[in-house]
Amino acid sequence: MLANGETLVEPEEQSKYGPAERDLVALGIAVAAIIMFVGAGGAVLPDVVRSALYDGRAPDNILVSIFLLNIALVIFGWRRYRQLREEIETRQRAERQARELSELDPLTGCLNRRSMLAATNRLRLSAHERAQAIAYVMVDLDNFKQINDMQGHSSGDKVLCEFARRVKAELPAEAALARLGGDEFAFAMAYDPALPERVDDIVIRLYESMAATFEAEFTSVELTMSIGLASDHDEHGFNPALGDAEMLMHHADIAMYQAKKQGKNRFFWFEPSMENELRFRNELEAGIRRGLANSEFVPFYEQQVDVETGRLVGFEMLARWRSPSLGLVSPEVFIPVAEEIGCITELSDLLMARAFADASEWNDELTLSINISPVQMRDPWFAQKLLKRLVQSNFPPQRLDIEITESCLHENISMVRSMITSLRNQGVRISLDDFGTGYSSLDQLRSLPFDRLKIDRSFISELSNNVDGHSQLVDAIVSLGRGLNLPITCEGIEDEQILTALQGMGELKGQGYLYGRPEPAERVRERLREQGLLNDSSPRLSAVTVVPKEDNAVPAPKPRISDPHEFLRRAGQ
Ligand code: C2E
Ligand code: MG
Ligand code: MG
Repeated sequence: MLANGETLVEPEEQSKYGPAERDLVALGIAVAAIIMFVGAGGAVLPDVVRSALYDGRAPDNILVSIFLLNIALVIFGWRRYRQLREEIETRQRAERQARELSELDPLTGCLNRRSMLAATNRLRLSAHERAQAIAYVMVDLDNFKQINDMQGHSSGDKVLCEFARRVKAELPAEAALARLGGDEFAFAMAYDPALPERVDDIVIRLYESMAATFEAEFTSVELTMSIGLASDHDEHGFNPALGDAEMLMHHADIAMYQAKKQGKNRFFWFEPSMENELRFRNELEAGIRRGLANSEFVPFYEQQVDVETGRLVGFEMLARWRSPSLGLVSPEVFIPVAEEIGCITELSDLLMARAFADASEWNDELTLSINISPVQMRDPWFAQKLLKRLVQSNFPPQRLDIEITESCLHENISMVRSMITSLRNQGVRISLDDFGTGYSSLDQLRSLPFDRLKIDRSFISELSNNVDGHSQLVDAIVSLGRGLNLPITCEGIEDEQILTALQGMGELKGQGYLYGRPEPAERVRERLREQGLLNDSSPRLSAVTVVPKEDNAVPAPKPRISDPHEFLRRAGQ
């Protein structure tokens, strides 16, 4: 639908019924019959009148018959002509409805993806004639899936209709608005190329109009959106290479993806550099799929120690990708992509199987911590599948610690609770990872049966930055853990100053580069063999020697890049 409420009708199809409408045969019969009627009537009627009034002689039978036949023909021809017109009108109506159904989104009444392409091209041509530019704007609702999942589909539908209504209200009359599918909308509008800020103004007004909550079935919800814009003009004016509707859509899509990546709820105009990034992202996706098939994902292990005594107590498994083209890749780069493309369960299963096999060789008192993605926690059978895998690998559940992040708690909290409970009943322990960086409430901390809190390294690093080696936040989290009877692990112990500060704080577990960087399984086995901590050797647990991190660094085929933006930037070059 156009923003002024008109529907889209293909102009060339309007005259399809022209010849039929002018049904010459039926009309011809009627006209010929009328002419004959006039002719025959002219001859017969005077005879009839004369016979009736003067001489009583019957008129010529043949002429009278022709005259009567004429009348019948006139009636027949005229009725046939009327019938045909009605038939054509009915068919026209049905075809218009069918065309509207195929061109409009039935829920919101907006154009659909197919008709949007045609509408944009038409808009583009007419704008071109008036020396105007075209902006194609892609709008994607953020986290709409959650509304659908948590409030039900009819709530989701209601929100989508209201959303379309609010967008329509902000657009110029001749703009074309489409729902491209699911929660993805787009609009195209002409603008003065000297004043591109007019388009920004409209987009800003859209954000303002979304600030009011949306009424769903039972509750009201808040909605944000990510927007990408593309134009057929660049800084030099009209650029035919940017111009066609498909190209505009593609560019706006790329800009929208950028808005999502930068944290959602924002808008970006397309820039050519974004395309490289997207190309790289596609290569990354393909690489991850290939890597899974070729077993390129491997577990690395980071030591976890008792902060007070320096005793090694276990390892955290951290995934690494040995990519043939990119080198050793950080999980911060590939885990989010694997989550998005639906590979995370397969990846995690593969790594877990290898980690259970590796850890079975270690001393039985050493624990194994494994990170679990929120996406995996959405599977209601997750706990059962994990327990089955433990049985298959013959790995004792008491040695396993599952780390979940606070983002898991936003989703179905009762499901998370029952999952945690099933796992704990079998002896698996559950830690809340990166505590303090997300949104877990004190209520969740109290009501969910966690076994441990892991303080995020961003808090621990304060112990090193502060002159007095003190951090009120760390103090507060440690006392919170003590109050809730939750043991604590401190991440990111990078130097002696941090270690010393933590040593005064009671019983804590710790991990960090001071103890060593994450290492591959072979290196861990070697280390444990040296310390007599492999299963077939003496089970005595020994203290970890603190060595400078360079000595302990993992030789990587290529330098590891832990900042995904840096990674993407460099790889995209
Ligand atoms: P995390 O679970 O909080 O893991 C700790 C991260 O901090 C690791 O980064 C580790 O290498 C790093 N780290 C440890 N000590 C220090 C230190 O002293 N200083 C600094 N600057 N960093 C330190 P990594 O290996 O890049 O992992 C990043 C995140 O990726 C992990 O954070 C975890 O959330 C996720 N992750 C890793 N492996 C997996 C996996 O198999 N599955 C899932 N779902 N997530 C994983
Ligand atoms: Mg972790
Ligand atoms: Mg962590």
